[in-house]
Order: sequence, then structure tokens, then C-alpha cells
Amino acid sequence: MGKIIAIANQKGGVGKTTTAINLSSALGFADAKVLVVDMDPQGNATSGLGVVLSDESASIYDVLIGRAETKSTIRPTKIENLDIIPGNINLSAAEVELVTEMSRETKLKKALACVRDEYNFIMIDCPPSLGLLTINSLTAADSVLIPLQCEYYAMEGLGQLLNTIRLIRESLNEDLELEGILLTMFDPRNNLSKEVQKQVEEYLHDSIFNTIIPRNVRLSEAPSFGQSIIEYDIKSKGAASYIELAKEMLARLP
Ligand code: ADP
Ligand code: MG
Repeated sequence: MGKIIAIANQKGGVGKTTTAINLSSALGFADAKVLVVDMDPQGNATSGLGVVLSDESASIYDVLIGRAETKSTIRPTKIENLDIIPGNINLSAAEVELVTEMSRETKLKKALACVRDEYNFIMIDCPPSLGLLTINSLTAADSVLIPLQCEYYAMEGLGQLLNTIRLIRESLNEDLELEGILLTMFDPRNNLSKEVQKQVEEYLHDSIFNTIIPRNVRLSEAPSFGQSIIEYDIKSKGAASYIELAKEMLARLP
């Protein structure tokens, strides 16, 4: 049965989508079967993996509101072993529409149950909020991966996120684990980056991935070509770091 990992942080621009796209691609490259679920109304993981949607294309939104079967919305990507359930702007309505539904927090969990067996990993790219879409993601997940940008105020909001995870454990998903904190956009020439690293290590020592994702311009260029870093520039530092992270994750599996 595949492991479901939510990539979450209510701050925008910290590297959630970049990690969803490139860690998933690196895992696929290492022969793991991976499904990305794009839970962000911005649909950046969808476009970043080169999947083009028409107005009629079904997305995870249609699954959440019970209008489509999960399997019918799965799309292959150009990367071997990597599929995606796309996300699009309709998802912003789901935040509101689901509010009055019964068991509104477990929609995604139920939707993924029937496809779990077909993948080694299911990676959920969360939106930059702690609303119903992120709560659905944390309820469906076995573990949560938190990207943390090595910038001013990196730790700001982290307490609130860890608190939300605790609340989810108490009510909706008692087995939710912390997969790890991933330092992103690290710049070794920048004292601030090193300062953030030191601080995070002090507070959350055991939970940090050994792999650190450097700031690398190739990582920011790749999405505009609808490509993962593995396709766009496998020799880049960015690609090497996500391949390393995939190895670290695979080594943790029982
Ligand atoms: P989030 O999904 O958390 O909002 P993104 O993954 O979209 O964050 O990243 C925010 C911006 O930073 C994007 O333009 C992305 O291309 C860029 N970016 C992400 N990670 C890196 C990195 N390691 N090096 C350089 N740019 C990055
Ligand atoms: Mg994003």
C-alpha cells in the first residue's frame, strides 16, 4: 500500500510545489510508482508537470464534490512512473462548497483509498492556507513534509502549523506522522541562510531531512517549460538535491 505524504506549509512561496514536482519526479526516476495530487487552486503542480487542462477536464475538485471517480481523473505525465490528479481554480470553490457537507474533512481520504494500492507514493501538494483543502490533505496523509524557506521569518507560522497537525492527530487522523522539515532555497553564501539552518536545527533537530535544497535558478526556470528538473537540467545542483532527497526517503522505507 502506497505511502501518502502531504507537502504542507500555510506560507506561500516556500517550495511546496517545487518539492512536489521534483521529489515525485526523482522518485519516479528511481523506479517508484508515484501519484501527485494537486490540491492547490493555482494548479502549479499540474502545469509544472506539463499537463494542460481544457475547460472540461476533470480535476480533484470533481472528485471531492462527488462528480467524478478518482481513477477517471488520473493523467499520465511525460515522466515514467509518474501520474497526476490535476488541480485547477475550481478548487477555490470547494473550500466553500464542502463546508455544509457531511464528513467534509475526509473526502480526499476516501477518494484516495481506491488508488493507494497502485502507487508506492502519493504526494499531495497543499495550498498556502490551513483551510479545508489542507485539512483534507492532512487527514488523508500518513505523514507531512514541511518545506521551510531559509529566509527571514522562516519559523514564523511553523508553530501554528505544528499545532494544526496536533489537532488533526487528536480528531481526524491519529497516525499522522511528521515526515520531516525540508530546508529549501538554501544559499551557503548568505549568512541568513546559515542562521536559519542553525535555528531550525536547535529547535527541531530530529525532524530535519539531511538533504538541503539549495537556491538554484534552474529549479525556478523548469516550470515555465512544463518540466521537472530531471527533464530540464539533470546536471543542475537543484536536480542533484532532489535526487538525494528521493534516496533519503527511499532509505527510510521499512
Ligand atoms: P509554494 O508552492 O510553497 O508556494 P513554490 O514551489 O511555488 O512555492 O516556489 C515559490 C517560487 O520559488 C517559485 O517561483 C519557484 O520556482 C521558486 N523556487 C522554489 N524552490 C526554489 C529553489 N530551491 N531555488 C530557486 N527557486 C526556487
Ligand atoms: Mg504551490
